[in-house]
Amino acid sequence: MRVGIDLGTTNSLVAIFGDDGPRTLENELGDHLTPSAVAIATDGSLVVGRAAKDRLVVAPDAGRAFFKRDMGTSATYEFGGRTWTPTECSAAVLRELKRVAELRLGEPVTRAVVTVPAYFHDPQRQATIEAARIAGLEVDRILNEPTAAALAFGLRHADEERRLLVFDLGGGTFDVTVLETFEGLVEVRASGGDSRLGGEDYTDALLDLVARRAGHAWTDGDRARVRQRVEVAKRALTASDRVDVDVGGVSIPVTRADFDAVTVELTGRLRPVMRRCLRDAGIAAGDLDDVLLVGGASRMAAVVAFVSEELGRLPNRSLDPDRVVALGAAVQAARADRHAAVADVVMTDVCPHSLGVAVARSYGGRVEPGAFCPILDRNVTVPVSRVERFHTIAPQQDTITIEVFQGEHRLTADNTFLGAFEVKGLRQLPGQPHAGEVDIRFSYDTNGILEVEATVLHSGRRVAQVIQSRPGALTEAQVKDAVARLQPLKVSPRDLLPNRARIERAHRRFAELTGIPRRLLAEALDAFEDALASGDRDGIGMAAARLDAAIARAYDDEGEAPGPAGGAS
Ligand code: AMP
Repeated sequence: MRVGIDLGTTNSLVAIFGDDGPRTLENELGDHLTPSAVAIATDGSLVVGRAAKDRLVVAPDAGRAFFKRDMGTSATYEFGGRTWTPTECSAAVLRELKRVAELRLGEPVTRAVVTVPAYFHDPQRQATIEAARIAGLEVDRILNEPTAAALAFGLRHADEERRLLVFDLGGGTFDVTVLETFEGLVEVRASGGDSRLGGEDYTDALLDLVARRAGHAWTDGDRARVRQRVEVAKRALTASDRVDVDVGGVSIPVTRADFDAVTVELTGRLRPVMRRCLRDAGIAAGDLDDVLLVGGASRMAAVVAFVSEELGRLPNRSLDPDRVVALGAAVQAARADRHAAVADVVMTDVCPHSLGVAVARSYGGRVEPGAFCPILDRNVTVPVSRVERFHTIAPQQDTITIEVFQGEHRLTADNTFLGAFEVKGLRQLPGQPHAGEVDIRFSYDTNGILEVEATVLHSGRRVAQVIQSRPGALTEAQVKDAVARLQPLKVSPRDLLPNRARIERAHRRFAELTGIPRRLLAEALDAFEDALASGDRDGIGMAAARLDAAIARAYDDEGEAPGPAGGAS
């Protein structure tokens, strides 16, 4: 069975299409959301998800979160004594989701539909496919997140004719998509976004405010420790007008108005993206039938107010913004599986960026290189294939370099470089028709992967290339190496997810406490570690209960569910 995966900036989910439609799967902790975090535990092993997130609170340098933002770039991180790429970190999360799915389904899972922000560039998509490969998953389809949301929504309203705007503000990315649904047809009209704007920026802005009010210079360690509280405070401000953030025993009050004031610029960045998307779709705000909010950060009061005001209507909140993308991915997985329940669903998507080549312009004999000539305009329906004719500048020129870019700017320097290749044999020979001319064809598939083909007109010679050169691309050997490094470790009771999460949570609490509660917690933790070392199931169960109780007792009112759910395994 194929699964649908929402690989999010902050959290990731895996979903399947069951007898009752799509549903997300929970891990052994009872959570549907697996934090997109990886870390090295004290014993040197790799932990993923909740355990990693808790570990990062205590030891911010022991791992990494928010790597989705760096996908497709040459960024690297150092932890656990080696260098990690964002692709490898994502692979670890995907492998964890694969494990959860296999556990729930009782069968191997090797194929998946994985979602990405619509606004992800080609290199970011390629990196996602690569991450899945390392995790042992073949990607059937890279699906745009808002399209996935619309699929989940469209399935519920399959027979209605609707014009829909999906507003997706996640942890790290912002996407807007305008689409129409009609008799099982889900047709995307336009997508736009900002791949560097999300809920985490709001958390950072609030953290800066709290740091200013705390009145002393903070180290990175201080920030990491307080960030979790600020994150909780940010969520609290969604429901209430005022919160107090506890910083080292001092309570710092923050009002909703303060929060809105320090994030007004961030919220302002949403407007042009939304307007452009509506313009590209050729649909006026007043003609929309529904506005769907997706992504955890779309819950923020200022964001809801902004959307309502800008579109002149209240957004629809009938679907869980955390899960709707994963559910849509499962719908797409069911389509790939040819599931009867979705046999009538037809979907079309668009290419969110303009794609083209660099050309030289000649102005009164002066040749200026570096202009961008789009071949595929943004928001054209995919799959699509278009061809344009170009010619050499100088009569004796034999070679041209086709440089491929993605973006909307006039100059290539301001767009994203995707790759380049050379075409030879263009030299003009006397009497030959079409000398010095070349046809360049761009073909863009439903996964957002671009193929460029150049045909030299006078000889008919063709050079084709899938554009995939990008910084940080892994060689075959590196993929093998990465797979080996992520191989599952020997599973001792200590490595089972609930126990891992329990230990990391206890460490995190320990760092926050002082005095007697801290000592009691330490004793319970030692007893639990001893029980794990003994391997005695009953002993582990008893020690786990004691540790959970100690964690719960030590719990301050941070608003999270106390202690890991699920029994000792
Ligand atoms: P996602 O990438 O869709 O999981 O989005 C996660 C983002 O949503 C994070 O930045 C969270 O802080 C944010 N978020 C989740 N719940 C809330 C809430 N109730 N209020 C404000 N932000 C939230």
